[in-house]
Amino acid sequence: MNAPIRNYDIAELRRQDVAHHLPAQADHRLIAEMGGSRIITRAEGCVIHDGDGNAILDGMAGLWCVNVGYGRQELAQAAYDQMLELPYYNTFFKTASPPPIELATKVAGLMGGHLSHVFFNSSGSEANDTIFRLVRHYWKLKGQPSRKIFIGRWNGYHGSTVAGVSLGGMKAMHAQGDLPIPGIEHVMQPYLFGDAFGEDPARFAARAAQAIEDRILQVGPENVAAFIGEPVQGAGGVIIPPDGYWPAVEAICRKYGILLICDEVICGFGRLGQWFGHQHYGVKPDLIAMAKGLSSGYLPISAVGVADHIVAELREKGGDFVHGYTYSGHPTCAAVAIRNLEIMEREKLVERTREDTGPYLAKAFADRLAGHPLVGEARSLGLLGAVEIVAEKGTNRRFGGEEGKAGPVVRDLCIKNGLMVRGIRDTIVCCPPLIISHAQIDELVDILKRSLDEAMPILKAL
Ligand code: PMP
Repeated sequence: MNAPIRNYDIAELRRQDVAHHLPAQADHRLIAEMGGSRIITRAEGCVIHDGDGNAILDGMAGLWCVNVGYGRQELAQAAYDQMLELPYYNTFFKTASPPPIELATKVAGLMGGHLSHVFFNSSGSEANDTIFRLVRHYWKLKGQPSRKIFIGRWNGYHGSTVAGVSLGGMKAMHAQGDLPIPGIEHVMQPYLFGDAFGEDPARFAARAAQAIEDRILQVGPENVAAFIGEPVQGAGGVIIPPDGYWPAVEAICRKYGILLICDEVICGFGRLGQWFGHQHYGVKPDLIAMAKGLSSGYLPISAVGVADHIVAELREKGGDFVHGYTYSGHPTCAAVAIRNLEIMEREKLVERTREDTGPYLAKAFADRLAGHPLVGEARSLGLLGAVEIVAEKGTNRRFGGEEGKAGPVVRDLCIKNGLMVRGIRDTIVCCPPLIISHAQIDELVDILKRSLDEAMPILKAL
């Protein structure tokens, strides 16, 4: 049975949105000038509906998270059943409830091998905060307390909390809140198209990895705790590193005994055609952050996957790990996540992304977008894609002589034409639900193409 369609007073909601609500990651003056946010009222499958009656293909899976698509009765049922049995209990003070234990067991199985344990939180940012404290605690236990420094990358994204912003490399975020906190270093990102246009990919991969080693040597290996990176940078613009980058990064971490952290908040749970992004690249992190696709965004839950050798150290010498949240191991969120993973397994969404829809999207990009006069590059891996908009084909030159002018124009046209995508500087990114059909991929590419055509005269006038 579908949920009844409710009639909202959209004009009044938009008025209240301006009067009382501060939406996240928003320019609040702009929202006020617009007379309030676009209000999404319902969704099913891969389609969201707004209060103005528009049906929009959700090319972003919400915020890179609704992997199983919208409207899953089973997930509502799992939440309902769990709420009646035990809506909430914590995992503090030697207690736990069944769902987080069952979910930890399930996730440990998916991570495979050496990542045998899981620590729960509510958001991706919190997962990275947990990692931050856990890693420094670990090195102290190991008798190497000087190992405090984390190395991240410029334009990496690890969340919006103090540790998350600091580990990330978004300069605009650093500027708000006097961040990063001390002990965090940033090195170049492996963004071939944007930063090293025309360079040989293998050479660039080696150079980008070398930047990590150089920084380790500069600050002293004995002071470095960990390197953190997203397998594919998401919020930074779907930056797919060239082959060879991740194995080289792993080798450098091993050479200096530095922990390798993969932030799988977007790449985890099938996005790149494997359960986790690091599995695609064949590397073995010591810690992973995961969130979003863990519950397909139906309820907030995140986790940190922890390697055996770290768990052993905690158990042997750690005593109380005085860290955790009221909602660590929330039973209802965990119950929904378990059912979500069951759906993913039953419908073979990971395999389907790897063998069917991912290649189909890549081919559609190559056949129908790559040749467009505004497209500098159309790249994808699994169901994560990016289209670079350029002023001159065959270059990475941007419209208006600076970054960030073309992206919003094309993004707004896409939304007007019925496709939700995101514009990151001049890169249009997409990350559809993993249930997307071939016909919907065709529609996504059609709308992108049409929006680029419509943008052409506007961009040429910049
Ligand atoms: N890490 C990565 C790689 C992310 O993409 C995000 C969110 N986009 C986060 C961390 C933060 O997650 P959250 O917004 O749930 O705190």
